[in-house]
Amino acid sequence: MATATLTISLDDIRANWRALAALSAGETAAVVKAGAYGLGAGKVARALAREGARQFFVAIAEEGAALRQELGPGPAIHVFSGHMPGDADMIRDTELTPMINSIDQLIRHVEALPGAPFGIQLDTGMNRLGMEPAEWAAVAEVALEQGPALIMSHLACADEPDHPMNAAQLRAFREMTDGLGVPRSLANTGGVLLGPDYHFELTRPGIGVYGGLPFVDARPVVALELPVIQCRTLAEGETVGYGNTFTAPRETRIATVAAGYADGILRAMGPRTRLFAEDTACPVAGRISMDLIGVDVTDLGHDPAELELLGRHQSVDTLADNAGTIGYEILTSLGPRYRRRYRGQ
Ligand SMILES: *Cc1c(COP(=O)(O)O)cnc(C)c1O
Repeated sequence: MATATLTISLDDIRANWRALAALSAGETAAVVKAGAYGLGAGKVARALAREGARQFFVAIAEEGAALRQELGPGPAIHVFSGHMPGDADMIRDTELTPMINSIDQLIRHVEALPGAPFGIQLDTGMNRLGMEPAEWAAVAEVALEQGPALIMSHLACADEPDHPMNAAQLRAFREMTDGLGVPRSLANTGGVLLGPDYHFELTRPGIGVYGGLPFVDARPVVALELPVIQCRTLAEGETVGYGNTFTAPRETRIATVAAGYADGILRAMGPRTRLFAEDTACPVAGRISMDLIGVDVTDLGHDPAELELLGRHQSVDTLADNAGTIGYEILTSLGPRYRRRYRGQ
């Protein structure tokens, strides 16, 4: 079988969430948008619910509705994009809590679903989602009469602890929300690590739960094994792959593995990336193709049956560095062709 295997450890996901919850001053939610960062929202959320998570966040109502099927009634499912036109039935039927981002959304929600739960998202400087201070000042009284479940904002630079934006956003958030008596949430993974001033009643980690930076103490969560389809020996001077970018400097053994950029193994990571046979690092040889990658296994001394791209030796953040991106993008790019195996529950 030329299908690569992505192993996802639910036990390690649970351990990472538990560790972030232990660092959090208040309650800890879990962000499971984009299919739990590509790892499978249903399986991940159910595992975290068993671990004690009672609040989840998704990006859009459709994700929330699908998650409700997986979780059943009970846990709160918050929607960052709020209440969009056409969402009212889904929000009501699947008991979602939209994070209201604007006066328009507030009117839409209160008119369509009076008395239904909602939260408020405030903009404290990121300028992406949420009500600005002036908007909030205009509607705060009306909104508070409706009994919001939560007031939240999002940090733009939480992964840079010394960035002055963090303190500026904290100050803005407090100015807009101090004394209102409504539960508050400001911290993503980076915000949890900034310390208790940033925690309020609820923290919202995502990437740290999935083993990524800036949570340096996270346990790795994914392993990716790529089957070797074929091995061949090149004479010195022969080349590998598109564009002849690899030239054998000596007699070289090349293994061709079954995965490529269509599976989220970004072309840009090629030149700096290695695959592992047990503890031996084998460099990528030539360009990453759509479905195939050449790997120099000369120093291994034998032909491997498979090679590991992600796991003990190499993290999503290493691959991200190699490609000039972030771990979030590596995780959410992991392709649909992998055979997905879950460890633990
Ligand atoms: C994605 C997201 C989070 C989680 O952020 P991480 O950096 O992955 O912990 C929290 N809040 C909002 C608004 C988000 O969009």
